[in-house]
Amino acid sequence: MAARLALVNESDHAVIGLLRSRGLRPTRARRLILARLRRSNDHLSADEVRRELRRRGHVVSIATLYQNLKALTEAGLLASFADSAGLVRFDANTEPHDHLVCTRCGRIEDVAPARAPRPARHLHSWVVTEARLELRGRCPRCRRQEG
Ligand SMILES: [Zn+2]
Ligand SMILES: [Zn+2]
Repeated sequence: MAARLALVNESDHAVIGLLRSRGLRPTRARRLILARLRRSNDHLSADEVRRELRRRGHVVSIATLYQNLKALTEAGLLASFADSAGLVRFDANTEPHDHLVCTRCGRIEDVAPARAPRPARHLHSWVVTEARLELRGRCPRCRRQEG
């Protein structure tokens, strides 16, 4: 029961609508970035987003990229998190979910939140506002390669 995004082949029109619904002007860079991250929710880093866009012939400057990733995240259209190496990754799935992380190839897959009890809202005098669970192991492809 993975919390997947069924948004393959989303039209530019739909992306423009999403941006407008959050009060963001649908600039070229925003449309490209959001469409790429929603097409395949593979949790890319900023660098990876830039490389992927360039491969398809879209050049976006680093400054523009970072500005827009920030704007999209602040508008709630993207989530961001630091992976175990400390690299910031962007997530088009903004619903609560957990991550399956492959320790061999680094692939990150969304799964529905684990049914295990969540931490209490108040813990050791802290107020807990968010809980993320990272499940680490081997993805199917790596398991096949390992034999
Ligand atoms: Zn793997
Ligand atoms: Zn995710």
